Amino acid sequence: MPDGFPDFRLGSVLATSFTATLTERQGDSVERIPTPQRLADWLAVNGLAVGSCTETQLERARELREAIHAAATAAAVDEALPTEAVDVINDCSRQGRAAAVLTPDRRRAWRLGPASGVEDALSVIAADAISIIAGERDGRLALCASPTCQAAFFDTSQSRTRKWCDMNTCGNRQKKARFKANRHRNAGSAG
Ligand SMILES: [Zn+2]
Repeated sequence: MPDGFPDFRLGSVLATSFTATLTERQGDSVERIPTPQRLADWLAVNGLAVGSCTETQLERARELREAIHAAATAAAVDEALPTEAVDVINDCSRQGRAAAVLTPDRRRAWRLGPASGVEDALSVIAADAISIIAGERDGRLALCASPTCQAAFFDTSQSRTRKWCDMNTCGNRQKKARFKANRHRNAGSAG
């Protein structure tokens, strides 16, 4: 926990990594971007460095985060997308300036300009959310099997049968709980 703040949970998909800045949503939730500086840190780690971040911009970022969470959750269970959430995502997408660039290994990346601000970074996250919710990318939106998490995540595994949002946290916790339960049962039957 550097600087006393909860660490980041980083996945390979920008939009769902962003929604994972609030974890354990159905349990004791952990806010991983509690201050404007932590949001700036998160953006920098994700290749979207911005000069500064205000409290208002942090609020806007959290609004986008919850909108993505709501829309991705609805998409994962095949329900109608919540209109408000779609509006927030679209507004954020429209309000930023970022350029799509081609990388040498044939990927599309986003580049912010030198004068880019938080709004520009949020537009990139919104665009990423749009592409996974619209089904443009190879993968499937699903909900984490952990009852205290239930985060929407983007499953890019070959079989599309991933159960947990992040094998290093939710999946491992489930495995540990099962291991403990088994050991308990085995100990019981032996004695
Ligand atoms: Zn999870």
